[in-house]
Amino acid sequence: MPKIKKTENYFTQPGVANIGLSKEDIKTSFLEKLFYSLGRIPVVATKNDFYTSLALTVRDRVFRKYVKSLEQYVEEDARGVAYLSAEYLPGPHLGNNLLNLEIMEETREALAELNLNLDEILNEEVEPGLGNGGLGRLASCYMDSLATLGIPSIAYGIRYEFGIFKQEIQDGWQIESTDKWLHNRNPWEVIRPEISFEVKFGGHTEHSRDQDNKLHIEWIPGTEIKGTAFDTPILGYQSNAIILRLWKAEATESFDFAAYNLGDYYRAVEKKMRSENITKVLYPNDENLSGKELRLKQQYFFVCCSLKDIIRLHLLQGRKLETLHEKFTIQLNDTHPSIAVAELMRLLVDVHQMGWEDAWKVTQNTFAYTNHTLLPEALEKWPVNLLRNLLPRHLEIIYEINSRFITEIREKDFSGEQISRMFLIDDRGEPTVRMAHLATVGSYKVNGVSALHSGLLQEQVLKDFAQLWPKKFTNVTNGITHRRFLAVSNPRLAALISENIGKDWLTQLDKLKGLEPFAANKDFRSKWMQVKLENKKNLATHIKELTGIEIKPEMLLDIQVKRIHEYKRQHLKVLHILSLYLQIKKDKQNTVPPTAFVFAGKAAPGYFMAKRIIKLITSVGDLINNDPEVNGTLKVIFLPNFSVKLAQHVYPGADLSEQISMAGKEASGTGNMKFALNGALTVGTLDGANVEIREEVGEENFFLFGLTTEEVADKKKQGYHPYKIYSENENLKRVIDFLISDELTKGDPELFRSVYDNLLNQDPYLLLEDYQSYVDQMENVYKVWQDPEKWAQMSILNVANMGKFSSDRSIKDYCEKIWKVGAVKV
Ligand SMILES: *Cc1c(COP(=O)(O)O)cnc(C)c1O
Repeated sequence: MPKIKKTENYFTQPGVANIGLSKEDIKTSFLEKLFYSLGRIPVVATKNDFYTSLALTVRDRVFRKYVKSLEQYVEEDARGVAYLSAEYLPGPHLGNNLLNLEIMEETREALAELNLNLDEILNEEVEPGLGNGGLGRLASCYMDSLATLGIPSIAYGIRYEFGIFKQEIQDGWQIESTDKWLHNRNPWEVIRPEISFEVKFGGHTEHSRDQDNKLHIEWIPGTEIKGTAFDTPILGYQSNAIILRLWKAEATESFDFAAYNLGDYYRAVEKKMRSENITKVLYPNDENLSGKELRLKQQYFFVCCSLKDIIRLHLLQGRKLETLHEKFTIQLNDTHPSIAVAELMRLLVDVHQMGWEDAWKVTQNTFAYTNHTLLPEALEKWPVNLLRNLLPRHLEIIYEINSRFITEIREKDFSGEQISRMFLIDDRGEPTVRMAHLATVGSYKVNGVSALHSGLLQEQVLKDFAQLWPKKFTNVTNGITHRRFLAVSNPRLAALISENIGKDWLTQLDKLKGLEPFAANKDFRSKWMQVKLENKKNLATHIKELTGIEIKPEMLLDIQVKRIHEYKRQHLKVLHILSLYLQIKKDKQNTVPPTAFVFAGKAAPGYFMAKRIIKLITSVGDLINNDPEVNGTLKVIFLPNFSVKLAQHVYPGADLSEQISMAGKEASGTGNMKFALNGALTVGTLDGANVEIREEVGEENFFLFGLTTEEVADKKKQGYHPYKIYSENENLKRVIDFLISDELTKGDPELFRSVYDNLLNQDPYLLLEDYQSYVDQMENVYKVWQDPEKWAQMSILNVANMGKFSSDRSIKDYCEKIWKVGAVKV
């Protein structure tokens, strides 16, 4: 191959493949893809053929940016970030890439000249549902910012063949079906058959000493499988591109016909299929995980491939392994990849013959760990027995890390009780490994995801570690990419903003501050609310298509979309809706402004109460939507199959954002940020990032209610008696009793008995305690809603003060506080 000094010199040579950005170039490429890559002509082509042709057209242009970025990273020998996450939720790629290449309009026109409609083609894309919710979406927002900011980085994960299940609603219940996102093929990814690694499982270890009495440990596995890389380029705005590298599991060797008789042949096929199982399906649990063996296999599988790849990249540059931590920092997105601490030790000590102390120094200086939850049931713990069977060498390493760590802290001023609390192994009951402790001990930094959460992390869950290593702990408040969640998904608002304050906000979200004076401008307020109304019309169309329910776009759109979980308290919203319903029905009092309550979100398939809550929402919906006495005022909608694609229609159309989790439970939330950035006002508790959003937008522009984290803790300490609250609040009592009424349950009194009993007996998330304060604050919401000028003003001020919540700011925080990595921009 001829030596190309700079790819740019090549790209600009005459006669070289056309990947220009003009309308004509795009049109030519699009047709070339249709003819030469797909072998189609327009009269027989399907919408998916058109979508694929356009995606390939765009991918070429993205790869052009990527090779330039890569070239620069290599040339500068830059320090880089490897982001390890078991989940990603990128959303549709096409629209975002068009924005980032700044060819949205050129593409629209090129297609129009071919009698094609860009919006219809955009709508063809099936998104990769490789995550459950907030955590996976965060990883994808961070990729957008890493690329935009030019941070040398690579993201690793799992190429699940079936992503998060598809949710349908039948008879009011959630029904799951498999998500076939690869069915129409995935034009964004490139397979790298040559980047593949072997991954061992099971078996045993053998310890031996050589002539110099040096200990050698060999892991003799029970099985081996292979992981192959699939790369998807992620383009930043006007900037670099980075790679999302996802691993797919396969059998190590293809079976050899001649060597097998018929019986063995089938056994070999089965073995191949068993190996491939590892990356078949994403576990659909948002917060808590049971000790599923396959889940641990998935975690180890992707961690092993990723670390081997990082070491390969490091050595490829002619460096020594002793300097790994100087050139790479590896971010652990939650504990899902935390087995990496033991795996890196294994690779360094067993495979690369480094001494334990040196290897530990490299390891401890390479990893940083992000904690995402304080929920006790969500803290990962793997049974020692499971680890012994699956990863026997790792278990030995974990015991060794534990014993050295204990020796170290015994010399410090810690009580016996503290020391046993810090053990990596929990041996009360069935022995388990506390993965958060492994991640904490094996990392140089640990961060929470909002100021409140990071504080609680240091005061509660990892208190002893924070005392031992105060400087190890820090906060990085989550952020969202405002390019996808404002520029791409809300083009009308984006245009109005740019017309008035210019386009700098696309790379510096703080510039939105320039909108503040416009809040006092009546003409601007009217344009602002006109944009909102258009977005609400668009959402109303989607609601009609998805549910058949019609709403008037002038209604107050009061929206709660997120995973269904008791701590998020969708059922608190339901109690409020029922109180309004009963007020109209029984008291014949109608003071509520016309409102559509919109819910969406998936429940983990095995989460009984969450699925019941969906049925509760849809039952209340059936009752209200079909009652002419109330359905002019109230509508209740459950949108099926919440996804990034659907989210991009929902946030822009919202008037009111529901962020009503029990204080202390939502680590950060990012839905709260997406709503506020799109001009919704928030009713919420002092939980997660709500606290910081309220600080930024001003308390007068935020509808606050409910107990604080501290008050929640006090209440629980004093002994909480929901029944007492119920019996002393007539309005609440009527609402709760309605849950088991015939009117709602249509002759099945057991239908919501579990919800009713749970609230009256335990009410672990204090719905009853916060009920009145919520209902009162909603009265206040309605008062403001009756004053459209005031509402508009508050909406503008919310958007103007959202600068902090760009994921660009989060990534800069990571770079400064944790990674010590700088930008390399092309
Ligand atoms: C933002 C987002 C979430 C997270 O929402 P929260 O309200 O923070 O729980 C979940 N799912 C999707 C598809 C999202 O876009």
